[in-house]
Amino acid sequence: MSYYEVYRKYKTFPFQTFFQQTTAADVLRALQKGHKSPRDFLTLLSPAAQEPQVLEAMAQQAHRLTEQNFGRTITLFTPLYLANFCENACVYCGFNRHNTIHRSKLTLAEVEEEGRAIREEGIRHIIILTGESRAATPPTYMADCVRILKKYVDSICIEVYSLTQEEYQMLFEAGVDGFTMFQETYNEDLYPTLHPSGPKHDYRTRIDSPELACRAGYHTVNLGALLGLDDWRKETFLTGMHALYLMNRYPGTDCAVSLPRIRPCVGEGCYRPACDVQDADIVQAVVAYRCCFPRLAITMSTRETPDFRDHLMGLGVTKLSAGSITEVGGHAHPPKTDGQFEISDSRGVAEMSAAIRAHGCQPVYKDWEPLSRDA
Ligand code: SF4
Repeated sequence: MSYYEVYRKYKTFPFQTFFQQTTAADVLRALQKGHKSPRDFLTLLSPAAQEPQVLEAMAQQAHRLTEQNFGRTITLFTPLYLANFCENACVYCGFNRHNTIHRSKLTLAEVEEEGRAIREEGIRHIIILTGESRAATPPTYMADCVRILKKYVDSICIEVYSLTQEEYQMLFEAGVDGFTMFQETYNEDLYPTLHPSGPKHDYRTRIDSPELACRAGYHTVNLGALLGLDDWRKETFLTGMHALYLMNRYPGTDCAVSLPRIRPCVGEGCYRPACDVQDADIVQAVVAYRCCFPRLAITMSTRETPDFRDHLMGLGVTKLSAGSITEVGGHAHPPKTDGQFEISDSRGVAEMSAAIRAHGCQPVYKDWEPLSRDA
């Protein structure tokens, strides 16, 4: 069994007909249910839910459920790019192997400096990214970096290319406790066009990777679709179903979702989103997730503007990045490479913390630390 088999069942579902036939009354009925089914989730994602009084009712429920399950807290994390070499050719990304950008990879001494600088910023949760090149950044390099960074931070999440079960396990042993991978699009027919070559071309390997991380014992597994590649309503639904599949099978793993919206990238022929995604759509997706999955962590990245990210606090978002840099390194010294995409919110840790407090919430710099195996 794999989520792929669940996806296959939904692949031919008449989403557009369902959305067209769903009324505001259907949404309000679904909202009143305690336990919500996949059909209720789809109902909350329909265009009818954007009627102001309906969206307001969803927002109120999402706010209440967020406080009930997460308190008035927001967890902060920061990304650290270890490298930007990539063997793939994703048409929407500035790190695309065909782009003539400056490529680099941190030495272990530079990783140490970055770890020290991040600790001084006050953050204890990081996500490390590499681009996707097994040749330039093999799992053994990642493990060496993790062992260094563990001296400075308590929780390390990886966002890297698909690994084998044994490799996920090896990184877990080195100190990784979180996993992020975006399917980009769940549309199996569209996927090969957007990922024309490289290992990432294999849809099935990508969709099965989060389950390998769950099996390896990772504490957190974060999923997402890149919003703008296909109809955001379908993509949000299929991401939610992926999370539900993992939550049911791996209760020891905390599931999270991100809602990354395509941003302009560096390089020639910058990709233009095929599907429009408005702020109101992101709000609807966040509150629909929260109303249907009360304990699901929701991450909002610096792809979004400061005002919009602040607005989403309390509606369901529980994790925010701060001091984000999408170039290689950059925390200890000015970055020397191009970034993967343009960020919209450049606030550092102190400024983000102040914004969180201004919203009546508490910034959390550390909410998880794995016990040492010797403990
Ligand atoms: S999205 Fe990831 S895999 Fe695709 S080109 Fe960019 S860095 Fe490489």
